[in-house]
Amino acid sequence: MTRRTPPRPLDVERLFPEVVRHKKEAVRLHPRAGGPTYRQSSVGGPLLWPEREPWPVCDEHGGAPMVAVAQIYRADVPDVVAFPEGCDVLQVLWCPRRHSDGPWVVPRVHWRAAGEVRQVLDAPPAPTERHENYVPRPCVVHPERVTEYPGWDLADDLWDALEPRIQQVLAETGWDYEYHLSTAPGTKLGGYPAWGQDPQWPACTECGRPMEHLLTFESTESDAGSARAWTPVEDREVRYESAGMMFGDMGGVYLFECLTCPGRPVAHRVDCA
Ligand SMILES: [Zn+2]
Ligand SMILES: [Zn+2]
Repeated sequence: MTRRTPPRPLDVERLFPEVVRHKKEAVRLHPRAGGPTYRQSSVGGPLLWPEREPWPVCDEHGGAPMVAVAQIYRADVPDVVAFPEGCDVLQVLWCPRRHSDGPWVVPRVHWRAAGEVRQVLDAPPAPTERHENYVPRPCVVHPERVTEYPGWDLADDLWDALEPRIQQVLAETGWDYEYHLSTAPGTKLGGYPAWGQDPQWPACTECGRPMEHLLTFESTESDAGSARAWTPVEDREVRYESAGMMFGDMGGVYLFECLTCPGRPVAHRVDCA
């Protein structure tokens, strides 16, 4: 089944023409509990992992195996994610425990060419110790492209200029720019990170330039504030199970990459509501 986010309830570009030049395309993944295979994009599903390739382990935890967090085939996110040449699968793993260089997980990103995988590893090692909150429930995904405008990422001067209009629109319509009109909540690729707090964009440690947002993992697909505007038509009045992770108190994990440096350096940030 597809998932369709309803159109923005107001004409954002007419009300706030200043944000038009900052719009970005994102793909909401809409993870839903299910039984994905390694031939599919998934959250918490099996990876297309070559049998001969060592499974990633955590250095800090004495070689403990990581867990699969997401696998995305290029065909599911056309034009939004810039895959390295020759690659058509993005895989994210992490060690599901707390780490010394951050409050939670430390993600690992792999890009792969599906056609080069001959024998698939069918039973990856599993960590004996794990924090259940950091292990996603196996989910199929329903990728959907949406247009976003900066919310937390609105520059200060632009925010100052727009604030009276944002308040006026809220008072007149009940729709809030930040919660309902700007950025999508939940698991997504591209677009703007679904920050729960002030943005903290990393700079690439190789070239010093600001990195690009690759992926957001959140504790919920939509919270009380955003659900009214962002819940897909198919999920209204429906109780569904998504990946079921919890980062601190409703926080998020955000992955970034540098598109220009060789080897695609990756960094991550976390926040907590
Ligand atoms: Zn670890
Ligand atoms: Zn760089």
